[in-house]
Amino acid sequence: MGAAIVSHISGTTKILGIIGSPVSHSLSPAMHNAALEAMGLDYIYIPLPVDIKDLATAVSGLKAISAIKGFNLTIPHKQEVIPFLDQISDTARSVGAVNTVKRVGEEWVGTNTDIAGFLAPLIELDRDWQKTPALVLGSGGAARAVIAGCLQLGCPVVHVVGRDPKKMKKFHGQMATQLQNYALRVHTWHSLDNLLEVAGLVVNATPIGMGSDPHTPINEAQIQILPQNSIVYDLIYTPAPTKLLKLATARGLMSIDGLEMLLHQGAIALEFWIGRPAPIEIMQQALLAKLAESKE
Ligand code: NAP
Repeated sequence: MGAAIVSHISGTTKILGIIGSPVSHSLSPAMHNAALEAMGLDYIYIPLPVDIKDLATAVSGLKAISAIKGFNLTIPHKQEVIPFLDQISDTARSVGAVNTVKRVGEEWVGTNTDIAGFLAPLIELDRDWQKTPALVLGSGGAARAVIAGCLQLGCPVVHVVGRDPKKMKKFHGQMATQLQNYALRVHTWHSLDNLLEVAGLVVNATPIGMGSDPHTPINEAQIQILPQNSIVYDLIYTPAPTKLLKLATARGLMSIDGLEMLLHQGAIALEFWIGRPAPIEIMQQALLAKLAESKE
């Protein structure tokens, strides 16, 4: 936390934060503190490490601290937090995951800003989404938001690839019930080549290729299978670009990196808490500065 932030903390400072395990690597404090300072607000945003076994106690205990006005949730808490909240939005209910919670009176109200964050760079594009089949790699928490986003865009079908057929069948059951949409198909990685042939939007929602992992979920030969107008979206933001996005760019495909989703889900969360437009450019600069710092 910067010295400028520490010096303005007083008895009236309001607190936001991010609950996760681990959470020390999170870029959200840098992004939100830059925004809060630029907005001239007496707020700070802090990392709140909470183990999964302590989540219920933490969420209920935080309610007693009136200065805490809200929080984000990251791995592994986005689904597990739901029973401990007083209300959740329809958006959060539709994917069974909450990433943002706000204090409203005596209640914790949860929502999901990952879906709109994921969609932000896509809705800018001039595409006929009804003619764009989507392919999502991975079926974890982020994949749920991505699937809901693809269905909101109007993609005619969303194919999801996972490792374990039993787990995928269960996943399909849960998602189909929550989203009430049967344009969802689940597969194992063996079907990848066939799915790539028709994919208009491919989203990597696995950690493959993150940090120093030299792997890529789609190899150089497989990238060639994609249609010429495909978009490749990697939710990973370090390294930037990932090997997957390098391959996509070399093939001449449009690529989008995970920093876009991180930035926009953060901006929408801030607007939910504060009720004012978020300073997107300042948040983006803070993210880029933090990433550059972590490379040194
Ligand atoms: P998660 O809940 O742990 O899900 C990870 C998914 O990836 C699971 O389906 C898992 O399969 C699959 N997977 C993991 N390792 C794999 C491997 N070696 N081969 C094939 N599949 C593998 O994680 P998450 O929260 O969804 O996050 C997924 C990725 O998105 C991470 O890289 C995360 O950093 C990124 N993310 C980015 C943002 C953003 O704002 N840009 C937001 C959220 C997440 P199994 O189910 O078989 O284990």
